[in-house]
Amino acid sequence: MEYRRLGRSGLKLSALSFGSWVTFSFQLDESAAVETMAAAYDGGINFFDNAEVYADGESERIMGAALRKLNWSRDTYCVSSKVYWGGDLPTQRGLHRKHVVEACHAALQRLQVDHLDLYFCHRPDLETPIEETVRTMHDLIAQGKVLYWGTSEWSAQQLQEAYGIARRWGLTPPTMEQPQYNMLHRDRVEREYAPLYSGMGLGTTIWSPLASGVLTGKYADGIPKDSRMALEDYAWLRERVLETDEGRVQLDKANRVAAFARELGMSPAQLAIAWCLKNPDVSTVILGASRVSQLEENLATLDKLDTLTDETMQRIEAMLQNKPELPKQF
Ligand code: NDP
Repeated sequence: MEYRRLGRSGLKLSALSFGSWVTFSFQLDESAAVETMAAAYDGGINFFDNAEVYADGESERIMGAALRKLNWSRDTYCVSSKVYWGGDLPTQRGLHRKHVVEACHAALQRLQVDHLDLYFCHRPDLETPIEETVRTMHDLIAQGKVLYWGTSEWSAQQLQEAYGIARRWGLTPPTMEQPQYNMLHRDRVEREYAPLYSGMGLGTTIWSPLASGVLTGKYADGIPKDSRMALEDYAWLRERVLETDEGRVQLDKANRVAAFARELGMSPAQLAIAWCLKNPDVSTVILGASRVSQLEENLATLDKLDTLTDETMQRIEAMLQNKPELPKQF
């Protein structure tokens, strides 16, 4: 395993990490969660990602029970939660002080830990002043309940505002952002955030490296019954990812890149993950897996990184045709 600094912080996360969205509760029960988390940990993964909204808290409960069963020393792994969607009532959602604090306490209970290593604001909340959220995160850190706080899918402008407020008032600035990043979705990480990596030392824990499985080529001939896109609860994802005009264009591109991966002697998933890892602004690539064999295949990417030579990368660019144009100073 390779370990990368989380932005400018001193924390080193495994370059590949493991998340529980969709899988925990919908596809993996507690014993399967233990099995996949053990395979991840044995492969050198030291960061496990979660959120209050995943399976309405059940994903954190399963992960907490698995952590208890696995009984790893607390100083050998990091675990996260994310706050935003805690329930339907105004007191249960958003980034106001009340919900951020209560969601933290609830996540600590479900995960059965006494601190969250990483705590994310799952989306921006336009109805809470950023200063209120920054102060609350700072306080949770001062209380030892959270070690590093960050955001997910905030705009560069919102991140800069949070950073400026923290610097002005001697508060803890966000350390990391959790954006989507993969071969089909790259603009924000490569263009919008470009000034933030050196500017505020931003780290990134990127999600959906396989674009929810699209980049594995598995949807070339329909929807496999045992796949995420066949789940009733995620019909909205299937519609958005596979059944829109934009989705069909992306799928076609993904299938072409998948064929190229096989020519290179890699699986399509491995090529997609390796491509994310090539970006030095990526601190960790959060993997998802609904079975151990997927995780093993994905972890083996680390042995194949040399396949992505400059020439190979250029050939991929030619297929993708989506490289963002950087502002002039970059
Ligand atoms: P991916 O895009 O990598 O999709 C993972 C899924 O792809 C698996 O569950 C599996 O689904 C399939 N898959 C994985 N490996 C293989 C393989 N080798 N061959 C074939 N199929 C494979 O990541 P996720 O979308 O799961 O996101 C990863 C993590 O990122 C999440 O768990 C979560 O922690 C985080 N996340 C954060 C978000 C945010 O808003 N901050 C949003 C979304 C995710 P299948 O069952 O279909 O086989």
